[in-house]
Amino acid sequence: MTLSDCHANPNIQSIALVAHDQMKDKMIAWVKQHESALDGLKIYATGTTGGRINDETNLHVERLKSGPLGGDAQIGALIAEDNLDALIFFIDPLSALPHDVDVKSLLRLAILYDTLLAVNEASASVMIN
Ligand code: PGA
Repeated sequence: MTLSDCHANPNIQSIALVAHDQMKDKMIAWVKQHESALDGLKIYATGTTGGRINDETNLHVERLKSGPLGGDAQIGALIAEDNLDALIFFIDPLSALPHDVDVKSLLRLAILYDTLLAVNEASASVMIN
């Protein structure tokens, strides 16, 4: 049995998925691998990440604005209003980002509100199952 065959984490009903540009292929591969665990959850994603998930997998996600245009802030608001159980955020570790302040703000809110948070594939896989 692989991790992806396990049942979904019962503590997660809503989840947000965000991947920086260089990490989007990784995110799509991860989502495909965990489609059955994600199926049935309320899924939010930033604009481009969400567009690719909707186009390339069988899941339907609610697309927010693109990260640099306020999508990270929208996810932060979901957390602050207690409307999000978990965040998977594939941050690009090798590129400088113009919206770094938004990334920091989102991570800070996830820490503050003790939201389930994974910033790489290995942690995301453990979290979702
Ligand atoms: P995007 O936003 O999914 O719209 O690319 C994520 C980001 O790059 O911050």
